[in-house]
Amino acid sequence: MGRLILIVIFAWTLTSLGAQQDNRFPWPEGYKAALSLSFDDARLSNVDVGLDLFRKHDVQVTYYVLPGGVKQRLDGWKQAVADGHEIGNHTLVHPCSGNFPWARNKALENYTLTSMRAELIESNRQIMELLQVEPVSFAYSCGQTFVGKGKDTRSYVPLVDELFTSGRGWLDEAANDPWFLDFAQLQGIEMDGKEFEKEIKPILENAIENGSWVVLAGHEIGEGGNQTTRTGMLEDLIRYVKEEHPEIWFATVGEVAGFVRNGKNAFFQELTADLLFYSSFDQGPTADFSLGDAVINTARSYDQSQTGKPGIHVPEIEISTDGGRFGGALHFRNKTREVLYYNAKNNISYGDSGISGTISFWLSLNPEKDLEPGFCDPIQITDSGYNDGAYWVDFSDKNPRLFRMGVFGDLNEWNPDNISPDDNPKFTERLVVANDRPFDRGVWTHVAIVFDEINNPQAKASFYVNGIFQGERPVSESFTWDVEQARIYVGLNYVGKIDELAIFKKALNQEEIKRIYFRENAISEMLNRRKDP
Ligand SMILES: [Zn+2]
Repeated sequence: MGRLILIVIFAWTLTSLGAQQDNRFPWPEGYKAALSLSFDDARLSNVDVGLDLFRKHDVQVTYYVLPGGVKQRLDGWKQAVADGHEIGNHTLVHPCSGNFPWARNKALENYTLTSMRAELIESNRQIMELLQVEPVSFAYSCGQTFVGKGKDTRSYVPLVDELFTSGRGWLDEAANDPWFLDFAQLQGIEMDGKEFEKEIKPILENAIENGSWVVLAGHEIGEGGNQTTRTGMLEDLIRYVKEEHPEIWFATVGEVAGFVRNGKNAFFQELTADLLFYSSFDQGPTADFSLGDAVINTARSYDQSQTGKPGIHVPEIEISTDGGRFGGALHFRNKTREVLYYNAKNNISYGDSGISGTISFWLSLNPEKDLEPGFCDPIQITDSGYNDGAYWVDFSDKNPRLFRMGVFGDLNEWNPDNISPDDNPKFTERLVVANDRPFDRGVWTHVAIVFDEINNPQAKASFYVNGIFQGERPVSESFTWDVEQARIYVGLNYVGKIDELAIFKKALNQEEIKRIYFRENAISEMLNRRKDP
């Protein structure tokens, strides 16, 4: 019993370590984590104390300045630029909630997006005039990201996203996960008044383990006092990184943000090289990218899918130009007898051995409220039927609906007597039923079917919902298609929206699927990037 528990724990440790290795962001030059120090408000001590301290250790930090503060030590701030420190924007007058008595006459509650935009641009202009640098990094004053009050409250995160390459918060608790982070909402952890060994070191140890990016935030630099990052803490921290943990990349917010952005782009760039088929449903139903036929076809019924006509010829199914996961989406307003399909040839891997690939898409529906009685397959790819050489996901026929993945090889091998699914355990054991079922109207759920080494002895298929592994099963039987007849059916008996249907020629791993799920842009943006060099 004890040994069994030990083995289980050991196996779990191995799995979680394995996942962690995969998840590590590819930091430059073998670094395992990143650390940025940042200081707000252009306090006098940033120049008076900080300049010498950081020059002595050859460390570059990010100063989020107020132009007014810069004017008080202009030569010093010019020296800071010359020393390689980054100058970021921290607004012009430091507005905060009017609940701070000193901020009452510049309360964020009285701002609008227009007045905030004007202020951020003016601050950048003044910094440019004073220091000849254009800030690309921003820190929210008081870490507050709103303007206005009550029903007129707006987030100004989108504005920061538009004007800067990053926006940092304040009094946050987490390090930034490069794969997940929102550049416009970088987490900034307080370092004022902190002691290294007990309060900062654990954060860095954690970052090394997770491959994350720590952004520390402070104000004054000195021996003591309010809102002051202690020089002793900084000395300890710099020694720790430079002498004990050179695998931590010490760099400014702007430098790390730039690297993370490029690294993520490079990953998706590589991924698009493995793309066989992709429909964004932005301009219409024709695939944006395909190695086979790009056009969608309508057949009068599932049984007549050998005689479809190009285009969508069903009034209940349309492209809605917005409201997609990104851009438009394919919208099924009602269940229809007619079926839509793309030809599968060259749009999905197929061959005698070792077929691998990933089918990725987004669904938006409430299965219980939207679907009509009966089975529904948002995606089904086959040359003959759901139980004979097929990849699909379906919702079961009655409420509450189960969400299932089915991958079936040749019917004559796994079910030679063609026993009905209801009486056939071999059918059920070929399914993976999702534990996670986060579907709802107006909510987009990401789904991925991964097939790996089909037509080889180790063949298997795995199922993911919102980047979370739902299970896998071996595919022991052969998988044979008449490839000319193979179809990618979209929305069989479906009611709801489908978006971003992509088929890759590679079996993506869990972390890669998560990255697609976390991704803030459509795949089409990577394709456009690929076109212009
Ligand atoms: Zn501030």
